[in-house]
Amino acid sequence: MNPRRVTRQIKVGDSRTGIVAIGGGAPVSVQTMTAGYTHEIDKCVAEINRMAAAGADIVRVAVPEKKDTEALKEILPQTQVPIVADVHFHFQRALEAVEAGVHKIRLNPGNIQDRAQVIDVIQACKAKGLPIRVGVNEGSIIERRDKQKRMKELGQVFSESKNGYLLAIMITKLEEYLDIFYEQDFYDVAISAKSVDPMIVVDAYTEISKRFDHPLHLGVTHAGPKETGCIRSIAALSGLLCNGIGDTIRISYANDPIYEVQDGLELCYCLGLRTRKGVDLIACPTCGRIQVDLFTLVQDVRKALDAIETPIKVAVMGCIVNGPGEAEGADIAVFAGDRRGIIYVQGEKVANVPEEQILEKLMEHCREFEGRVLRGEAKLGEKKVEIIPPDPIGELGSGYEKIAAGRVETLTVGKS
Ligand code: SF4
Repeated sequence: MNPRRVTRQIKVGDSRTGIVAIGGGAPVSVQTMTAGYTHEIDKCVAEINRMAAAGADIVRVAVPEKKDTEALKEILPQTQVPIVADVHFHFQRALEAVEAGVHKIRLNPGNIQDRAQVIDVIQACKAKGLPIRVGVNEGSIIERRDKQKRMKELGQVFSESKNGYLLAIMITKLEEYLDIFYEQDFYDVAISAKSVDPMIVVDAYTEISKRFDHPLHLGVTHAGPKETGCIRSIAALSGLLCNGIGDTIRISYANDPIYEVQDGLELCYCLGLRTRKGVDLIACPTCGRIQVDLFTLVQDVRKALDAIETPIKVAVMGCIVNGPGEAEGADIAVFAGDRRGIIYVQGEKVANVPEEQILEKLMEHCREFEGRVLRGEAKLGEKKVEIIPPDPIGELGSGYEKIAAGRVETLTVGKS
């Protein structure tokens, strides 16, 4: 992992919501956006609070109509997370959102272009100490109203190198737009440059990171359903983050935004950019050696572990052939065999139970171990898993003989 790029820091929030710092060495924050109408106040509040409970650091809401910015006045006191107003086309919505007490404004140079209007928004934000995100996203950066200009720009985009021309447009528009901010002595700006194409996202943010020191809001726009959008988003964001680029992220799915929060946090945890909250669950993919219903077990374990906030590392492994080596470093591990499971806590075998009792017993030991950690009697990751594979004929039953038949050499390996 490369060192994090040094950026200016902006701050989003207030004393009621808490302040979320973006850039300047702050942990990478995770954002999402409500899917419902902002003017449906009760639903909007419920959605925001559900995302905050799932771990969202910042939530964005769309404010296309005046009734949406009016709703903000009632929404904000009922929510505990900084709120960003997403403004397109109508600069008045930005002014109304600022007046309503929102914590940040998102502007799009593609559809709020009038210099005087932009200055009005900048001055309103400046007066209240609010930051602004400038988003030069692919979908809106191409001129729409001026057809001739649009044709010219599109012609550039689709000739020769698509990425090259698109990047040129993004950066040119960004420079032009930011000049207005700088003239107003306003620097509390975050930048986004999203595209549906992960490679354009990588190129755009890499290029922008060389030219501007503003914090970067990473994302892949209209990434699609969760199943494929996940890959599309992670393909772009993980490379950038590993190169030290990116200060706040939004994963976007055509699905419940809660998944955006969960996956965004998991990405940060996996890359060591955030301190994990909750259990780190690993599990084997299963293979022809499996002798329990591991997929169901893993899903049941995952749901049950939601109740545990301590970052215990738990491994659910399908067998003892490769399981012990692959579960190394887990605080708690279960190895399944012939319709049974053997449970280890920090290397010590604590149970050998039939398949139907694995979940209950595993959770019992997770809770017991968490209690010991919280009381200071045990430390996470303190003891490596030192697992001697069970006797293949004994503990895991005669079925294991079939498993072991072709893999006898691995039985003696255990922990390498
Ligand atoms: S742990 Fe065992 S069952 Fe799971 S994938 Fe590895 S060898 Fe197969």
